[in-house]
Amino acid sequence: MSVKPSYTLAADVLVVGGGSAGAMAAVWAKEVDPSQKVVVFEKGDLKYSGSIARGMDALNIVAVPGVSTPQEYLEACHLTADGVVDDGPSYAMVTRTWDLVQTLTKWGVYFPQDKDGNYEVLQVHPKGRFALTMLEPDLKVKLAQQVYARGCTVVNRVMAAELLVEDGRVVGAIGLNVRTGETVVCRAKATIVTAGGSARFGLPSSGYLYGVFDYPGNTGDGYMLAYRAGAALTGFEHTQRACLIKDVSIPLIYIVTTRGAEVIDGLGDDFSTGKPQVSTMLNRHEEGRGPIHLKLSHLPEDRIREIEEILFSVERPVQERFHKGRGVDFRREDIELWPTDTYLCGGHGMAGLLVNEKAETTVPGLYAAGDTACVHRGHLSGAFVVGQIAAESATAYAKSRPAPRSAGAQVEGFGRKLAGIGQYRGRVGIDEFEYKVRRMITDYCIPPKNDYKLAQAQLWMERLSRQLPEVVGVRGTRDVFKTLEVENIIAVAAISAAASRERKESRWGPYHRRTDYPERDDANWLKHILCRRGEADLDVRLSYKPVERMEVPA
Ligand SMILES: Cc1cc2nc3c(=O)[nH]c(=O)nc-3n(C[C@H](O)[C@H](O)[C@H](O)COP(=O)(O)OP(=O)(O)OC[C@H]3O[C@@H](n4cnc5c(N)ncnc54)[C@H](O)[C@@H]3O)c2cc1C
Repeated sequence: MSVKPSYTLAADVLVVGGGSAGAMAAVWAKEVDPSQKVVVFEKGDLKYSGSIARGMDALNIVAVPGVSTPQEYLEACHLTADGVVDDGPSYAMVTRTWDLVQTLTKWGVYFPQDKDGNYEVLQVHPKGRFALTMLEPDLKVKLAQQVYARGCTVVNRVMAAELLVEDGRVVGAIGLNVRTGETVVCRAKATIVTAGGSARFGLPSSGYLYGVFDYPGNTGDGYMLAYRAGAALTGFEHTQRACLIKDVSIPLIYIVTTRGAEVIDGLGDDFSTGKPQVSTMLNRHEEGRGPIHLKLSHLPEDRIREIEEILFSVERPVQERFHKGRGVDFRREDIELWPTDTYLCGGHGMAGLLVNEKAETTVPGLYAAGDTACVHRGHLSGAFVVGQIAAESATAYAKSRPAPRSAGAQVEGFGRKLAGIGQYRGRVGIDEFEYKVRRMITDYCIPPKNDYKLAQAQLWMERLSRQLPEVVGVRGTRDVFKTLEVENIIAVAAISAAASRERKESRWGPYHRRTDYPERDDANWLKHILCRRGEADLDVRLSYKPVERMEVPA
């Protein structure tokens, strides 16, 4: 495969990843300074890419005046994070969520209100009501329209593969067009990374590489781009697992349980009371009390219709066909849930780039938002608000910096790397190789964990990263970018195993359960584990950071 020539763009602010956080960051960078040049690298197509895909049914975190407060949100976060959370970023996020609702409303996003003007706010957290119902089947399309209308330059189908680094600061990125094989260089005064989490991590129970809960284009690229540029990652021992509709891995728990569905385990025990969390369902499944199923048949017809309306139009329209194909009518049949894939994620988990309340990473010129950043349980609201914060910080930073110099040497090095990958002549297809990598991740990286398993995970990731160039055959641009993705999946798994090995306790329920250290140990482990790159991707250097608490203004 020949390496295609590159072209270069210049920007004040480059956004890597055009999902929820990235699209919002791009819009907001133009909002704060319409004259600046904003470029977005998006691996898919901005119109439908990322976790939203198309529509969404709720902003999970909104402090609605008179209903819930930022203080309550912090208390809820302390509970869900088992104490390992910094207040600053979460507080900065939640205090701006009500303004976010006003902004989205102006853009035509629909938040239903009753005849007295009250919003529907549901409880999905252990404390406080924060989930604001949103009925918006075209959310991503509306966001994309804002990006284009404000004059951002969107470069679709480009996977950012390396960040440009000059004198210790990040000054843009090099990308690969996943269809044409062209390389694209963007030299930028400030860079925001919003490439989601690691959706393609463990294998889903269906065995399909792309049948995952989160957006399958997210392969931990954001983590790895920043890690290779020297940034600190945190929370990689929090390996999150979903409990989703069996075989199709689509969520619906919040939508149906908040509207009266009963949650029943395999032995017939109804444990609906007390708003069961996903972790409780996973625990029951692991104890042999699965599968969990959701019962709607007792609900009145108008409630069932309301649920169908949300599931089949706003959330994931494909559900309608799926249930029909299986002969499931909510009036008669229950919906079976199953633990599916394990993934890493900052926005609805804890694994991400360490950021402060200004969305600054630990490397100058580099900002992060959304699932790439660790802002615990911000969900979509967090992606949007931290995207805005990152845009404001990046804009201010860009104003005080000179334009980057030429990135010639780094671009040439990247060209040589691509040419090298193009020469892989092994007999194994990259998809088959990815299957094996992710099977090993499922075998060794996910709970229940113990030191032996995690050491095996590290050993296997080392072995697989050595084997990749020897056994994989590359037959075109698609295989090249898949190879880059698989390299990232391997490295992310190695980082996760290193952090998990280090945290010698159990925490976060089923997400970091160690059978050799079954107890939570606050005396030693109420702190963050940070991961930085040493001499190579799999040379993971660990350190600790204390948890930061703040006095919340009255
Ligand atoms: C099925 C599902 C349902 C959810 N429901 C809700 C809900 O109802 N309410 C709520 O508040 N939250 C919900 N969430 C969570 C919320 O949607 C996410 O936290 C949020 O959208 C994450 O935004 P993001 O921008 O970080 O990631 P994404 O929106 O996934 O965007 C990441 C983008 O980066 C791109 N990308 C990846 N790698 C690269 C690269 N190397 N170069 C260039 N581009 C790259 C991807 O193509 C993608 O477009 C849900 C999540 C899922 C998966």
